[in-house]
Amino acid sequence: MGKIVLGCIADDFTGASDLANNLVRAGMRVVQTIGVPDGPLGAEVDAVVVALKSRTIAPAEAVAQSLAALQWLQGQGAQQIYFKYCSTFDSTFSGEIRGNIGPVTEALMEALNTDFTIATPAFPDNQRTVFKGYLFAGDVLLNESGMQNHPLTPMTDANLVRVLQAQTRRKVGLIDYRVMARGEAAIRARIDQLRAEGVGVAVVDALSNDDLLRLGPALKGMPLVTAGSGVAIGLPPNFGISPSSRASELPAARGLQAVVSGSCSLATNRQVLDFIKAGRPALAIEPLRIAAGVDVAAEALAWAAPLIQQGPVLVYSTADSNAVKSVQGRLGVEEAGAMVERTIAAIARGLVERGVRQLVVAGGETSGACVQALNITQLQIGPQIDPGVPWCHALSDAAAGQGLHLTLKSGNFGSDDFFSKAFTMLK
Ligand code: ADP
Repeated sequence: MGKIVLGCIADDFTGASDLANNLVRAGMRVVQTIGVPDGPLGAEVDAVVVALKSRTIAPAEAVAQSLAALQWLQGQGAQQIYFKYCSTFDSTFSGEIRGNIGPVTEALMEALNTDFTIATPAFPDNQRTVFKGYLFAGDVLLNESGMQNHPLTPMTDANLVRVLQAQTRRKVGLIDYRVMARGEAAIRARIDQLRAEGVGVAVVDALSNDDLLRLGPALKGMPLVTAGSGVAIGLPPNFGISPSSRASELPAARGLQAVVSGSCSLATNRQVLDFIKAGRPALAIEPLRIAAGVDVAAEALAWAAPLIQQGPVLVYSTADSNAVKSVQGRLGVEEAGAMVERTIAAIARGLVERGVRQLVVAGGETSGACVQALNITQLQIGPQIDPGVPWCHALSDAAAGQGLHLTLKSGNFGSDDFFSKAFTMLK
């Protein structure tokens, strides 16, 4: 197995796919792993994204997991390490919750023996821009975007220099938009200046993809980069890699097709309706019947068995917010969520055991449950279906040792016809 060039550590699961998707679009062949692998890579690739779930866990634990990922990536030959966090910089001090971006960055710098890195969540394609160190989500500052009310990581300050400085002993500085506009030489000169001033981490302004593409060459040779997924678009050329459709090639698709959905987001509700309106077979599963002890998974699989022979089917718990609230009121929020996730994961596994080899999963948490039930540990990243959502290919014991095409669509991603369109993209 050849060596990888870029090793990435992502602090959550769907964020890892988002980064992997950007790297593939820029020409890299990428595998996403679920946690730190305990075995070898299943494919020859340029980059690996290790998906952790370290965003809101205790800092010491986040550091330990990130260092384990680093060690594994170094073992694969990674020349540069990319620590990926959310484009809203989710991580803050608030009561018991301590920000992890600072501690993890510091630990990775120490382990890599480097005195300088950058930090920018900028992702202009997704309306996240940084100006004078302030993070904007769309047209408003981060702390006016709704993120100030996030249940786990409330962001009450949009000034990233301040936010990050509160999480790290290293001095935090800024590379501002005027430097960014002047390109690689100016950025490198600014880095030298900041270093001389004792700055260890520089927040970087980026107003557009052009800024990120100018940043790319200035990061060549930097042992550690910390960022959202946006910075990834400018890195592959540093390794002599340019966009190519070969990067997203997956094995030929075969087998039966199905969609399972445990997402109740608005976009998913529209996607379920669109699939039903197209006259395709769809079965709603009811949380209260699961709670009453009915084997809803077995029922769904019996329903699907003859239908999957004809074309794609959909099994969903997707419901509008009133229905969800009513179920949550009766079962409890967590209990309802866990019960539905378990059921959908069992259905996904059953469908694959019955010959489904092209599977669409809707819902971030739901995806985590399905990947676990299918015993999937590595995903080869393929072509993008919609922004942030690629087809992947994975091995699963449920597929009797064969490969399986899989796409994991988080809540609000994807066009209304996503559930039908996805299958037309596989050859
Ligand atoms: P999204 O990406 O849209 O946020 P997730 O899968 O991450 O979707 O989260 C949806 C959560 O809601 C899951 O825990 C799921 O089990 C739960 N859920 C799904 N359908 C229902 C329902 N009808 N009633 C209550 N909870 C549900």
